[in-house]
Order: sequence, then structure tokens, then C-alpha cells
Amino acid sequence: MRCDCGASLVETTTCEQYKVESMVLVIANIPALKCPSCQAFFYEDEVLDRIDEIISTAGENINQKV
Ligand SMILES: [Zn+2]
Repeated sequence: MRCDCGASLVETTTCEQYKVESMVLVIANIPALKCPSCQAFFYEDEVLDRIDEIISTAGENINQKV
């Protein structure tokens, strides 16, 4: 896979913050592809689907009463 700038992407992992309801969820070790030339990040579709799943599951848990 190549970046828009033409450089070959390198596999790496990243850490992202997502806002869920009134909380912030941090997901670490997300598989990503990074461009060593322009520093752009790319995620594969299945990774994005998985993140959506984690966020929706976290949202359900937050709505539960303690
Ligand atoms: Zn690039």
C-alpha cells in the first residue's frame, strides 16, 4: 500500500482518544500504516469497524447504573 505522496507505508501502532458520552476512551496499540515521508496515518477498514464496535460497547456500559 502506498501513500498519496508516493512513499511506501510502514506498519505501526498508534493510540487514539475517543469521546464516549461524557467520558474519554483511550484505545492503545491500534494497528495503523504510517507514511515515513509526510507522516500521514492510515487505518484499514476492519480496524475502523473494530474501533466502532469498541466505542459502541463502551457507550452501552457507561449507560448502565452502578
Ligand atoms: Zn505520504
